[in-house]
Amino acid sequence: MKLFKLRELKQAFTALFNKPYTNNFPAQPHIPFPRFRGRPVPSDDACIACGACAEVCPSRAIEVINTVEGNIPSRAVIWHYDLCIFCGQCERLCTTIDGVKLSNEYDLATDDRSTLFARIDKELILCESCRAIIAPRAQLLWLIKRMGALASGNFNLVFEMQKELGLVSRAQPPTPGFASRQDLYRVLCPHCRHQALIFNQTGKQPPALDNSL
Ligand code: SF4
Ligand code: SF4
Repeated sequence: MKLFKLRELKQAFTALFNKPYTNNFPAQPHIPFPRFRGRPVPSDDACIACGACAEVCPSRAIEVINTVEGNIPSRAVIWHYDLCIFCGQCERLCTTIDGVKLSNEYDLATDDRSTLFARIDKELILCESCRAIIAPRAQLLWLIKRMGALASGNFNLVFEMQKELGLVSRAQPPTPGFASRQDLYRVLCPHCRHQALIFNQTGKQPPALDNSL
């Protein structure tokens, strides 16, 4: 027992004449080590709003909101920092690799949680017949770049390529209806393209597909 007391006294005297182990934070900011995992920062250029990171986020800190009403349908991908556990899965499994990067930023303390988020908004492409979501436009353009000549095997990618090159108008308001032969050369979801192809080959309108299945 005496031995313990003597050791504590020695530590107390040593501490009197040494510098403290702790930092004088916030007056003297802490410099994190290079591989520190801090706030995930999405990139407006590299993120294509595919939503893959939301699927792998273990704490469900990434929210995907699709807005299909209005003239320009859009998708928002939102990182909620008050739910984030800084695991780095969103960075590791990002489709484009550079869509989101963890920064060294650690000082996120606030008294207003509603300010703790980052958000990316991208235009959504809808089926021109039934208005089902096909993909964000940025994702289709990214696919076209990655696939090169192979992209010409997919109708929707060809149409987006033509819009990008200015060969067709980008202002095509979707006109919901029953996909038929004349719809073949429009942006369609797989169900509606299937209908249009059957009509083209047989001349008969197939029964409407049940999209809820
Ligand atoms: S591009 Fe990367 S960061 Fe953007 S939504 Fe897709 S997976 Fe997430
Ligand atoms: S770092 Fe982890 S917890 Fe945070 S948003 Fe990315 S995947 Fe989710």
